Amino acid sequence: MELRNTKLLFLYRSFLFRLVKFETKNNTLKTIVNALNIKKRKQRIEYVYDEAVKYINDYYKEDLCQFKNNQCIAQRKSNNKKINGCCRVCPLVTDKGCPSSNLACKLIYCKTALKNLKLLKIRDIQVLKCLSIFQRLTLKGSFFQTREEIIKDLYYGPIYSSFKTIFKELSKLFKKKV
Ligand code: SF4
Ligand code: SF4
Repeated sequence: MELRNTKLLFLYRSFLFRLVKFETKNNTLKTIVNALNIKKRKQRIEYVYDEAVKYINDYYKEDLCQFKNNQCIAQRKSNNKKINGCCRVCPLVTDKGCPSSNLACKLIYCKTALKNLKLLKIRDIQVLKCLSIFQRLTLKGSFFQTREEIIKDLYYGPIYSSFKTIFKELSKLFKKKV
């Protein structure tokens, strides 16, 4: 079946089109067609996530944050003693940078880093249209997490991620009290 636009994607990604093979002559729809042709839900989510990250990395080709001695360009300009850029409060950050491939964090470059570049938004990334509105909202708020954790949230849905957040907050409270 030929895909000409993204209007009916909510329907095409449902189980009703499980046996349908999509194709397109439109180059800008290629990643969407590839995603729709992956019929296993988890694999499709992984593909969409990785393609979106690739798209962002290609868009921001240069090293925007220009780290030197653990300080980013914004920290060096403001002459403060802080290190690790805007990752400094993240439990994942290491002295070698980010060990994750976190899509949400890739969409929050500050003005100093961006200079004249336009900040990408979730809606600018075509392939993300293959996700539901809830999944896109989940992605938007998924800072400080690993790729694998985010994929799980997208796969298992709102109940799983709510429980996970409550559990995290309770563990923090418990650690403070001990
Ligand atoms: S986005 Fe801005 S504040 Fe964050 S690491 Fe890059 S230069 Fe620093
Ligand atoms: S997950 Fe985000 S905040 Fe944490 S280290 Fe990676 S880029 Fe920084």
